[in-house]
Amino acid sequence: MPWALISADVWACSPELFLVAIDVGHHRSAPGATSASNISEYNYNLALARKTLVALQSRGFSSSFLIGESGAAISLSSRPAQAAKRSASAFVSIHHDSVQPRYLRRGPRGWETDYASGFSVFVSRRSGQASQALGKAIGREMVGYGLSPSLHHAEPITGENRPLLDRSIGLYAYDELAVLRNTRIPAVLVEAAVITNPSDEQQIISRRLHDNAASAIAAGVAAFCR
Ligand SMILES: [Zn+2]
Repeated sequence: MPWALISADVWACSPELFLVAIDVGHHRSAPGATSASNISEYNYNLALARKTLVALQSRGFSSSFLIGESGAAISLSSRPAQAAKRSASAFVSIHHDSVQPRYLRRGPRGWETDYASGFSVFVSRRSGQASQALGKAIGREMVGYGLSPSLHHAEPITGENRPLLDRSIGLYAYDELAVLRNTRIPAVLVEAAVITNPSDEQQIISRRLHDNAASAIAAGVAAFCR
C-alpha cells in the first residue's frame, strides 16, 4: 500500500506510487446533464479529467490514469472495479452539475438556471475516513483556487436533502452513491460547476474554471498525500 494513516487527516505517501484513478463521469451514449448551451456533460467531464491528469502529473503523481476516456459505456459498479484492478490508491470521479427540473427555464439555447452555481464534493461515509479526508482536502483547495461551493444539494426536497459535512467547502455525504459506496480506497465525486447556469458554463468555455478546478483537485490530492 503506497500510503499510510499518520493521524486523522494526514496520510504519508510517495506521489509516484500513489495512483489516482480519474473517472470521467457518464459516457457518450448516456452523457449526463445538458448545459445551458446544449453541450453534454460528458464532454466537459472528459475535458476536466484530462486537465486534472496533467495537473497531477506535474505534481509527481506520474502513474495516475483515466477511466472512461474512450466514451464507451461503462457501468457504475465497474468503474471502481477498474480502479482496483489497476491498483489505484485513490478514486476521483469528475462530473458537472445541474439542478432539479423545477428550477430550469427555457433559455436561448437550452434549459438553464440561475438558482445554483458552483462546485460540490461528495463522499460516501461507507467508504471510510480516508474518503472524507480526501474530500476535505479537495474542497479546501477548490475554495483556495477561487471557486465557490454550491449548497443547493442540501435543500430539503426530493432528489436533494444531502447532509452537508462542511458547508464552507461544499462537502456533502452521499452514502449510497454507486461509484463511491463500495470502494476500499479513498474515493470522492467532484461536481465542478453547474453547467445549466450560463455564468458557470461561460467560465468553463473561457477555460478559467477548468484550469482552477484541475489545479485544485491535484493540490487536494497532494495535501492529502503529504
Ligand atoms: Zn454527472
